[in-house]
Amino acid sequence: MNVPTLTIAGIQEGLRSRQFSAAELASEALKFAAAENPKTNAYLLLSEERAIQAARNVDAALARGEDPGVLAGVPIAVKDVIVTKGLRTTCGSRLLEHFVPPYDATAVERMEKAGALIVGKANCDEFAMGSSNENSAFGPVRNPVAPDRVPGGSSGGSAAVVAQGTAVASLGSDTGGSIRQPASFCGVVGVTPTYGRVSRYGLVAFASSLDHIGPFARNVHDAALLLQVIAGRDARDATSAFAPVPDYRQSMQQDVKGLRIGLPKEYFDGLGDETGLQIRKGIELLRSQGCEVVEVSLPHTQYAIACYYIICTAEASSNLARYDGVRYTTRSANAKTMIDMYRMTRGEAFGAECKRRIMLGTYVLSAGYYDAYYLKAQKVRALIAGDFQRAFEKVDALVTPVSPFPAFKLGEKLDDPIQMYLSDIYTITGDLAGVPCMSVPCGVTREGLPVGMQILTRHFDEPGMFRLAAAFERAGGFSV
Ligand code: GLN
Repeated sequence: MNVPTLTIAGIQEGLRSRQFSAAELASEALKFAAAENPKTNAYLLLSEERAIQAARNVDAALARGEDPGVLAGVPIAVKDVIVTKGLRTTCGSRLLEHFVPPYDATAVERMEKAGALIVGKANCDEFAMGSSNENSAFGPVRNPVAPDRVPGGSSGGSAAVVAQGTAVASLGSDTGGSIRQPASFCGVVGVTPTYGRVSRYGLVAFASSLDHIGPFARNVHDAALLLQVIAGRDARDATSAFAPVPDYRQSMQQDVKGLRIGLPKEYFDGLGDETGLQIRKGIELLRSQGCEVVEVSLPHTQYAIACYYIICTAEASSNLARYDGVRYTTRSANAKTMIDMYRMTRGEAFGAECKRRIMLGTYVLSAGYYDAYYLKAQKVRALIAGDFQRAFEKVDALVTPVSPFPAFKLGEKLDDPIQMYLSDIYTITGDLAGVPCMSVPCGVTREGLPVGMQILTRHFDEPGMFRLAAAFERAGGFSV
C-alpha cells in the first residue's frame, strides 16, 4: 500500500479484497506522518492510540461480515480548532496549550461512526485568524509543494497533510477563506459548504455567523463523500439546517453541457498574470465541456474586506472573552490580583493577531460606534448576499480565482496585516453570503506553484457545485 496515493475508493477496495487491513493501514499512515512531519510542522499531535483502536474496530466489523462504514479505514486529520475528546485541542494558541476537551465535535463523531481513523490534529493560525498559518503559537507550517513558502491559512496544516500524503483527507474550518485558500496554495480540493450544512458543535468559535467546517481531499469525489458524512441537521447546533443531504455521487456522474457559468468581472481585476493564465485555461476547459460562459457583476465586492473585518473582529472579541485564565487551563503565574489575573493571562498568552482583532472588535461594538461600524457592516453584508442572489438568477454557478497570487514566501507578508487581509478578497464574499464554494486545483505557475479555481453555487446546491468540479476533474483540470 502506498499511503500518499490512496483515495477513499482505493481504501474501500483494498479492505474488501483483503490487500491490507485497517490496522496495517493505520500504522503505516502514522509511521509516514511521523517521518514527514518535521519537514512541514503540519501536525501538532498524532493520535496513534485512537487511530489504531478505530482501525481494529473496522477490521472486527469486516471479519463479522458487517458494513464498516463509507469512511472505513480512511486516515483523516482534524484542524486543531475542532474539539476531540481526550485529545489536546490548542487552536494554535498558548491559551489552550494544555486543553483536553471532554467531548467530540459532531463532525468528528460522525466521521468515526463511518469508520474513519483520526490520525492527528492539524496546525493552524491561532483561533483560525490568518491567511498563512504563520500566526500559530506552535510555529508555522511549510508548504509541502515549496517548503520556503506558506501553505496558506488558517487551515494550513489541514491542507498540507493532504498535499504531503500523510492523511487521505482532513477537516478544516473556513470563516473568510481558510479552507479554499490553503487548498489552492497546496494543490488539493477544499470545500466550504453552505452555512448551516455542517454542525458547528465542537468547532471553537471565531466568528460564529461566518464559521464553517469543511473537508480537504485529493479529489472531488473524496471531498464530496466526506461532506456527505458530516453534513446534516444536528440538534446541538441551532443554526444547522434541516434540509436533507442529497447523495452527491449522483450529481457527479452528470455532464455539464448547457450549464451557465458566470464570471464576476470584479474578480478578474488585479489578478496576478500567472494565476490569471491558469484560471482562464480552466474556464476554457469548462467551455469545452459544453458550459456557457457569461460575464456577471457582483457590484459590492469592493466593500467585502472592510465588511468582513468588522463583522469577524466584532464576533471574535465576544467569542474570545471566555479565555479569562479561570477556564481552559492557561493562567498567568505572575498575577497578584483577580483583575491582573485576567489581564495578564490574556496579555501573555494571546498572539499579536488575536489581540489586534479583539481590540478592533471591541471598538466597533462599543457604544457610539456600533451603528457607524457594526450595523453598517451588517447592511453591507446583506447587499453582498443580494449580489449573489441576483447573479444566481442568471447563472448556475460562478467561477473565479481563489487567491490573487499563489503561495507566498514565509515571512513575506507577516509585518503587513493589511496586505495579508487583502489576500482574502476572492474568498470572503462566499462566507459573507453563506453560499457553498470550493477550490479545485487548476494548474501550476512556471515555478510549479499550484493555482486553485473557485466554484460557487446557490445555497444548498452542493450537488451542482460537485457536478461542475467533478466534470472539471474528469476533463483533466488536475493533470498539470
Ligand atoms: N484569512 C481570514 C482571516 O484572517 C480568514 C480566516 C478564516 O477563514 N478562518 O480572518
